[in-house]
Amino acid sequence: MLRVIDLRCEHAVQPLGIDIRKPRLSWRIESDQRGARQVAYRLITAATPADLASGQNLLWDSGRIESDQSVLVPYDGPPLSSRQRVYWQVEIWDENNQSDYSAADWWEMGLLRSSDWRAKWIGSDLAGGKWTTIPAPFVRRSFTLDQPIASARLYVTALGLYECSINGQRVGADYFTPGWTEYATRVQYQTYDVTDLLRKGENVIGALLGDGWYCGHVEWRGRQRYGDRPKLLAQLELTFDDGTTRRIVSDGSWRFAFGPILESDMLMGESYDARRAMPGWDSPGFGDANWRPVLLFDQQEIQLSAPRGPAVRRQEELTPITPPTEIHSWPSSRWIFDFGQNLTGTVRLRLSGPSGSTVSMRYAEVLNPDGTIYTANLRSARQTDHYTLSGEDTETYEPLFTFHGFRYVELSGLTEAPTAATLTAIVVHSDTTPSGEFRCSDALVNQLQHNIIWGQKGNFLDVPTDCPQRDERLGWTGDAQVFIRTATFNMDVAGFFTRWGRDLVDSQADSGAYPPISPNTGIVGSDGGPAWADAGIICPWTLWQRYGDTRVLEEFYPSMQRFIGFMESTSRELIRCYPEYDGWMGFGDWLALDNSGKTEGRTPHDLIGTAFFAHDARLMRDIAQVLGKTQDVRRYAKLADRVRQAFQNQYVTPEGLVAGQTQTGYVLALHFDLLPKQLRARAVTELVRDIRKRGTHLATGFVGTPYLMHVLTEAGELDLAYELLHQRTWPSWLYSVTKGATTIWERWDGWTEERGFQDVGMNSFNHYAYGAVGDWLYAVVAGLDTSAEHTGYKQLVLRPRPGGGLTSARASYRTPYGQALSAWQITNGTFVWDVVVPPNSTAIVHVPCAEGAQVLEGAWPASSAPGISAQGYRDGAAVFAVGAGQYQFRVDG
Ligand code: BGC
Repeated sequence: MLRVIDLRCEHAVQPLGIDIRKPRLSWRIESDQRGARQVAYRLITAATPADLASGQNLLWDSGRIESDQSVLVPYDGPPLSSRQRVYWQVEIWDENNQSDYSAADWWEMGLLRSSDWRAKWIGSDLAGGKWTTIPAPFVRRSFTLDQPIASARLYVTALGLYECSINGQRVGADYFTPGWTEYATRVQYQTYDVTDLLRKGENVIGALLGDGWYCGHVEWRGRQRYGDRPKLLAQLELTFDDGTTRRIVSDGSWRFAFGPILESDMLMGESYDARRAMPGWDSPGFGDANWRPVLLFDQQEIQLSAPRGPAVRRQEELTPITPPTEIHSWPSSRWIFDFGQNLTGTVRLRLSGPSGSTVSMRYAEVLNPDGTIYTANLRSARQTDHYTLSGEDTETYEPLFTFHGFRYVELSGLTEAPTAATLTAIVVHSDTTPSGEFRCSDALVNQLQHNIIWGQKGNFLDVPTDCPQRDERLGWTGDAQVFIRTATFNMDVAGFFTRWGRDLVDSQADSGAYPPISPNTGIVGSDGGPAWADAGIICPWTLWQRYGDTRVLEEFYPSMQRFIGFMESTSRELIRCYPEYDGWMGFGDWLALDNSGKTEGRTPHDLIGTAFFAHDARLMRDIAQVLGKTQDVRRYAKLADRVRQAFQNQYVTPEGLVAGQTQTGYVLALHFDLLPKQLRARAVTELVRDIRKRGTHLATGFVGTPYLMHVLTEAGELDLAYELLHQRTWPSWLYSVTKGATTIWERWDGWTEERGFQDVGMNSFNHYAYGAVGDWLYAVVAGLDTSAEHTGYKQLVLRPRPGGGLTSARASYRTPYGQALSAWQITNGTFVWDVVVPPNSTAIVHVPCAEGAQVLEGAWPASSAPGISAQGYRDGAAVFAVGAGQYQFRVDG
């Protein structure tokens, strides 16, 4: 049975309001045939579902195209216009010339020209100051409709944050909209279908405006980084049953007032006085006579763009795992709630009490030994919410324009003892669909994987951040670069990173340097330091590898070229960040433990810089190849060779020692292939020696850690890699796990028996960087990866490397072609391996066994099983090429 399902446009399901003029379409094939693949497709589009169904008045008909491409196929019909809704359908043919039609689907264009915008930026008359906050303005506008509405769209954005409502109903399910971009250049707008919220008669559109990233606190240098007050831009476009249209736009006719949100700040928290609530403010019939006319603002310099990735949504709720614990204090007790999971989000508070009394909530990731909350690591982020009761029966409050990183909440100011039902935690992050699952026979490793996932949830809040709790929460480029490969396994982050890639380009300095954080708040300037700035090349490249997204490469290519140019012009004889360089030298091997207490690690900055320069140049060679830019291929290949040579001249001894003699130095030299072939073995010996010398411990920081396990695996040191995986004393991945961590810690030694908490100045318990080992768990332990030639899982490489006493491991992963599986088990020496290769993809499978061992697939010798072709024996595995389908391989012990 052949079916074509799961239609997507630009990585999204039925996107509303996109501004990509040639959107790309994807679909998935379902079939129970081994070897199922698409041989041809036909795409059609129409203005209505009826036209599509009848095949009449088609806007575009691709005709039958002989191609196996089913992912990211560019729309190639007539130019699309603002607001256009396109219905589309795909027909596909498989290898037996069977065909199937998909159901009809759609996408809708947003506002493509700046002249489509008639709305004006509006706001209140209060601005606050660098250290002074303002209450959240409420804005509203009432209007009357005298005809039935056929359809309505709200195009809306803010400088700051907005929550919009129409006739008392919240618009959409997104939070922290419009998201954080490089505001001086660009702000995203959202599009909502609000047809069902409107009616004949009086209607009200309203919005609350929060400070958000735009004018609230970001990092530690006060408020108003981008502007002085929040502003709204809203355009409601109505089409009536008779085809006529009307627009309601934000303009001078709107009115504003301040309500119950007295203060709201991403880092500091929210203050809410329920006595000041204004029931019905966003519904018809409300008297706004004492509201004042809004002020108008001119922000023409800021480009309005449709989002390229998912919005932030509330994802799940957690209840406390124990009843609240009382901490006796004066004048009233404090109560500690434990949600059992370090998370990012907010809470729902339910309580009753006297009018005018105030309860406070403070949030923390861990507890002090005396059971109180540990907040020293939050630095200047207060992350505290206050709620003043109105005195009604039961009151419910959810802080709106703030989020916190926490496992524990301390509630104080209560007049009665709370119960576990008093607080519920609400987990908030970008709506990146889960795509992968990893499990194995070791419970601690499974907890590690759990912690990696929660590190990702907690730090993929609109932009990839370092941490969600202290006064940073910034889009550190290095952290993102380190973690992106793991991130693609756990969740579908194609849109998330495409969107952030655009921010990175917007953040790029004229010199070509990418900054260490994007959006760039300017803490370190824009001076492309090693391993951070390189995210500008590594991240798009990873999107190409894992999602087969060529356009990301095309789009960012000029920017990447500028960055390569920056490195060429600022290096000295191709040594990047040479010791006398007066620009930004980067953060070194951040938080490596090989430099007696210094955060930078011992690996020389110039060595890291030059290694990444060579790596980037080689990636550019490969990118140019993908894009068919032959001259550039030659140019970057040459550059890569020259930088590699410079690296060898500067840092490698004739015996194969690498300057600095650090694990990260060896890891980079080996992983980026910077050593002459004959010296690799010696470098491996030195790396292994250093690990052993430290009692089988790693000593890598942010820079070396993601590659360490891959390097050991490739060098034939798989057993050592497993020893490091299972190591329980610090520095190691399982150390924090054995200490009860539920997320990845920023530092290997965030808390130790000997010393207690690390330096309060930098000690987050939710930093995803060291979770980068997740990539190795999926790709090596479970053995599921994409091939480097046929990227985006068009061809899978299934190559488990069992070891370390594990008796089973399993990775399931939703590739762009469908669900893939690699699940192995060893029972009494017999290796049984279940494999699923999705339709329209193929796989190279490596069955680990001794040379000459008999490999069965189902009941057959694998070499003669249907749909399988033997490819010989390589590196400890019998290799087979297979088409789509389910397989069970078996090697008897
Ligand atoms: C952040 C890191 C970041 C680093 C730069 C820290 O304060 O939390 O994750 O990459 O600064 O070295």
